[in-house]
Amino acid sequence: MPMIRVGIPRALIYYKFFPMWEAFFKRLGAEVVVSPLTDRTIREKAISAAPDEDCYSTKIFFGHVLEIKDDVDFLFIPRFGSKHKTDMGCPKFIGLADVLRSMFPDLPPIIMPHYNIAKGRDNKLTFFLKSLKVGLIFTKNPFRIISAFIKAMKAYKQHKKDLIIDLETLAEWETRNDFHLNDKPKIIPGERPLKIALVGHSYVINDNYCSLNIRKKLKNFGVQVITSEQIPRSIIDQQLSILDNRLYFEFEREILGSIMYFLEQESVDGIIHLMIFGCGPDSLAGDLAMRFSKRMPNIQLLQLVLDDLTAEAGLNTRLEAFIDMLRRRKEKVAVHIPILRVP
Ligand code: SF4
Repeated sequence: MPMIRVGIPRALIYYKFFPMWEAFFKRLGAEVVVSPLTDRTIREKAISAAPDEDCYSTKIFFGHVLEIKDDVDFLFIPRFGSKHKTDMGCPKFIGLADVLRSMFPDLPPIIMPHYNIAKGRDNKLTFFLKSLKVGLIFTKNPFRIISAFIKAMKAYKQHKKDLIIDLETLAEWETRNDFHLNDKPKIIPGERPLKIALVGHSYVINDNYCSLNIRKKLKNFGVQVITSEQIPRSIIDQQLSILDNRLYFEFEREILGSIMYFLEQESVDGIIHLMIFGCGPDSLAGDLAMRFSKRMPNIQLLQLVLDDLTAEAGLNTRLEAFIDMLRRRKEKVAVHIPILRVP
């Protein structure tokens, strides 16, 4: 019997949950088909098909769906609300599957479980029951579904463990120049190494096409990078606890908390915040980040807004100017000779 092919678009929450989904479907005996890396073709499909008013990341999601729709038996587009009792994901994640189904009647059937602890009163039991229901599409054997569920949970736990560093590792990265959490930067003779925190949604900082290859560019500039998704959660919660009102957008908490931490610690040379045009939560976090940055001006914050019209040449110029400015500041600090006052 041919394997059932489940299509997973490589966009949005794919970057948070893919290892869990993959483990689940594979154990159920399905073939997991992931859309290719974002490229020009996917972008073109995305721009022509998605509603104009959608954010760039949602548009890209459309492109990925259209890219794989004819190669799969099912699409998996969960309606993700939240996995926290108060904090929420973006509302767009909840509506996407329905929007796609109504706009493109020729799509294969969409598996779209809804999971929402904050607003839907979901919990571990309902999560299991919803997973069971999805599993029944592939097998009538409940033990196999339970085994797939356990595997999926383990894979997710391991993924988080691999991604989010602990406090000791963070301290080591902050104090050493030869300890790399991501790609080893190029050594540029005569230039001091720089450290930059790259913050943004995981589906932006990990999508080379959407982020205009910024990670590779930073590597070639000899920059050591740490990303917001790697920052220990205890630091994020601690930083955001000073706000009068709880910031309840889960991914923006990660972004703003990381920015606030590095502004305060001054353990990086600069921060680059990748924002998405048309993103409501981002504009809120971005504005708060700018206010904190004005209060703590020793660390420079560069905010770059990305959309389908962002020109790579313009981004290169801004990036080069930013790196150049950081290097000059570093030199200045390095050659600074304190004035000795003669008593
Ligand atoms: S959080 Fe922002 S970028 Fe992400 S899907 Fe929602 S509106 Fe788009």
